[in-house]
Amino acid sequence: MTDLIVAGTLLTMDPDRTIWSDGAVAVADGLIQQVGKRSDLLAEHPDARLLGGDSCIITPGFINAHQHLTGDRLIRSCIPDDVPSQEAIYDWVVPVHAAHTGDDDELSATLSLLEAVGNGITTTVEAGTVAHPDRVASAFERVGVRGCIGTWGWDTGDGPFTAPTTKVMEAQRKVVEAHPAGGLVEGWVTLVGHDLASDNLFTEAAALARDAGTGLTFHMSPSSDDGVAFAERSGKRPIMHLADLGVLGPRTLIAHAVHLTDDELTLLIETGTAVSYCPWAYLRLGQGVSSSGRHIEFLERGGRLALGCDTENAGDAIDALRVAALAAGLARDMSDDHMSFGAHAALELLTVGGAEAIGMGDRIGSVEVGKAADLVVHDLSGVGSTPNSIDPAMQLLWTGDGRSIRDVVVNGVPVVLDRRSTMVDHADLVAAAAESQRRLLEQAGLAPTPRWPVR
Ligand SMILES: [Zn+2]
Repeated sequence: MTDLIVAGTLLTMDPDRTIWSDGAVAVADGLIQQVGKRSDLLAEHPDARLLGGDSCIITPGFINAHQHLTGDRLIRSCIPDDVPSQEAIYDWVVPVHAAHTGDDDELSATLSLLEAVGNGITTTVEAGTVAHPDRVASAFERVGVRGCIGTWGWDTGDGPFTAPTTKVMEAQRKVVEAHPAGGLVEGWVTLVGHDLASDNLFTEAAALARDAGTGLTFHMSPSSDDGVAFAERSGKRPIMHLADLGVLGPRTLIAHAVHLTDDELTLLIETGTAVSYCPWAYLRLGQGVSSSGRHIEFLERGGRLALGCDTENAGDAIDALRVAALAAGLARDMSDDHMSFGAHAALELLTVGGAEAIGMGDRIGSVEVGKAADLVVHDLSGVGSTPNSIDPAMQLLWTGDGRSIRDVVVNGVPVVLDRRSTMVDHADLVAAAAESQRRLLEQAGLAPTPRWPVR
């Protein structure tokens, strides 16, 4: 039975990119049941609850393909931005992760996911730096959003989360079995990546993802450091090395891939390996994307690309439209062919393209009958949106950010109404978050101070 109608200017992101200027979506049992004219659907389902309306744009829920949900979230904007990125990670982020309890993990993930869904993100791929995956899964369920989770996968060096390969694989298998593919929360195989995984770990992780029918994700080449490390390790470029190990392919989602040779780029395209592109991280950390990044070339040559917001020392805000606008702006500035990638292409990466890249293109990413009802209501009645543009995609991307988002539906459930979560009251978390921040900084031996004098 149809229980919900979501109405407005409807950007379906279907194969024709159809826009209904006065459209509506009928939702039943968590799925999109009908797409059509608002008046027709309202007449057919007079008792259904109505969301949206005049001056509203409806889009599919956004996909964030790389997000650390725990760790530096609870010390957000405390890590100085004038330290080298390796120092930020090893002297700040890793010790804070090491001090995390299960309660911290759930609190941190809950806050991150609340922020994300308020900004229209209905599907999040956790980046694989979680110590208590079941607590993070609980956070997804509490907030009512979709996503993929894993746990630490790191078997070299002496960091707090390194473990022998067999132990790492045991933990990975446990997550994958506890959260089977197809559910609201899916278990993925997640490695830290870089040069922090042995060849055995990479190979076994790829085999587990294949056997379990799930995804594999890890970090590679956000800066030029991984290229140097792999040259010493095997004499090969990182992507060539991973290809020889059998790690590339359609199940694999590599975070970053900023520094690539021609051969590496071609190999990623030919193997159908997906990439999550997190432009704020590279700008915030000064990793060279504006001089070396080739993500748009990758996409235009058939590569499977998604966007990610990454983490608090490398992006700070979990806001999909903010990332997409940056990606479009960077593409135009870096390219001689500035007509090739703009607002429409960026919106595709947040929706239908992102869904395809993370292997969920058959279920989410567009407003089509039979897909999950993951929908975002953007309220464009404010002064900044007046008058509404003739081209809603252009208006959303170039003028928008999460502030325009009023209601969000995931799996047919309105989880955000009038800019507030219907599932979790953020005000209840404020005191716990402040206390966690204080304790985590103390336990990690960190004492951030404002750069300017405080009186
Ligand atoms: Zn990351």
